[in-house]
Amino acid sequence: MAKVIICDPIHKDGVQMLRDAGLDVTLDTEVTAEDLLHKIGEYDAMVIRSRTKVNKELLDAATSLKAIARAGVGLDNVDLPYAKEKGVEVFNSPEAPCNAVAELVLGMMFNMARMITEADAGMKQGKWEKKKLTGFEIQGKTLGIIGFGRIGYTLGKKAKCLGMRVLAFDVALDRVKQYIDEIGAEAADLDTLYAESNFITVHVPLLPQTKHMINKEAIAKMRDGVHLINAARGGVIDEEALKEALNSGKVKGAALDVFEQEPKPDEELVCRSNVICTPHIGAGSVEAQIGNSTVVAEKLIKFFSS
Ligand code: NAD
Repeated sequence: MAKVIICDPIHKDGVQMLRDAGLDVTLDTEVTAEDLLHKIGEYDAMVIRSRTKVNKELLDAATSLKAIARAGVGLDNVDLPYAKEKGVEVFNSPEAPCNAVAELVLGMMFNMARMITEADAGMKQGKWEKKKLTGFEIQGKTLGIIGFGRIGYTLGKKAKCLGMRVLAFDVALDRVKQYIDEIGAEAADLDTLYAESNFITVHVPLLPQTKHMINKEAIAKMRDGVHLINAARGGVIDEEALKEALNSGKVKGAALDVFEQEPKPDEELVCRSNVICTPHIGAGSVEAQIGNSTVVAEKLIKFFSS
């Protein structure tokens, strides 16, 4: 029976799945780095979140280790090249937060369209600003999605149900075209997406090619009064260019869940009345947390049964 050590807290549903599948599970969610180094040799697999650091020293001590399961997305805490060299399989759960992020983005779009946070702030100051708060409807508007992977697709599907026109751009068009067609969206080149979208949202990873992809030049190609959203990674939108465009009115509003500097983002940007901000909570739903644990449990079970 494969022995699994769970080194960081994960939702109990995933733990139960592993036990039901007959794996020998040890819950040791407060284990120190030193203790882990002594005991890791006994285990065939380890489940981690971001707390446990899987470095060369730990991998060298992990003489029976066959798999590392990271409940969550980021793998910065795992020495991936060395794990690969040692033949250790690494799993994570990027599928789990898709719906949570897509719903947050929709919430941001509704908020920008109907100025909900602004209205609420006014009410709390005793104001009744009915006229100032005439918004617009998102039905019939065009949503431009840059990066049509898991989250882009999930969001696009929901936006179509709300009666939006959806334009999608992805560098891997061959791979994603079937999903664009499936939901009735339209594949577009970037210039068309910029020129025709009322809302533009980015769902790409942060890479050298995507850093500041939404910059001064890109914004200049967008329609006047566009609304921009970033719930992907800070740095995909150039914050200096965004501030300039918010000042000029070229960009009417922005909604940001991620920032170039976290957890201390640019105050000038965050405090603007035409910017809605959330502190990187895209994956912050109960369902996504459950998903993180059950998705990696499923992957581990499959790994040990094949
Ligand atoms: P994914 O890998 O499924 O999709 C990303 C897509 O971007 C792919 O289809 C890829 O081809 C495309 N892409 C890559 N480079 C591109 C480029 N230069 N131009 C256009 N398209 C490009 O990823 P995902 O799971 O959908 O996640 C998308 C983003 O959301 C990632 O940055 C991820 O880190 C982030 N994320 C944020 C949160 C949060 O809490 N806010 C939670 C989960 C994921």
